[in-house]
Amino acid sequence: MADKVISCRDCNTEFIFNESEQAFYKEKGFENEPQRCPDCRRARKQQRNNNRGGGYGGNRW
Ligand SMILES: [Zn+2]
Repeated sequence: MADKVISCRDCNTEFIFNESEQAFYKEKGFENEPQRCPDCRRARKQQRNNNRGGGYGGNRW
């Protein structure tokens, strides 16, 4: 296994998908390589959390 360079789908930044990450993915049973750079992945995760958490001032009971 060797490091791979992947271009992020969202921002087109190239990032390294290194050996240990590849091993991690394999271990988890993921067949696909990551499509996004770590920054975009983190941003998306955060967005999802925000949506789910919601209701900071939105709903009033
Ligand atoms: Zn990106």
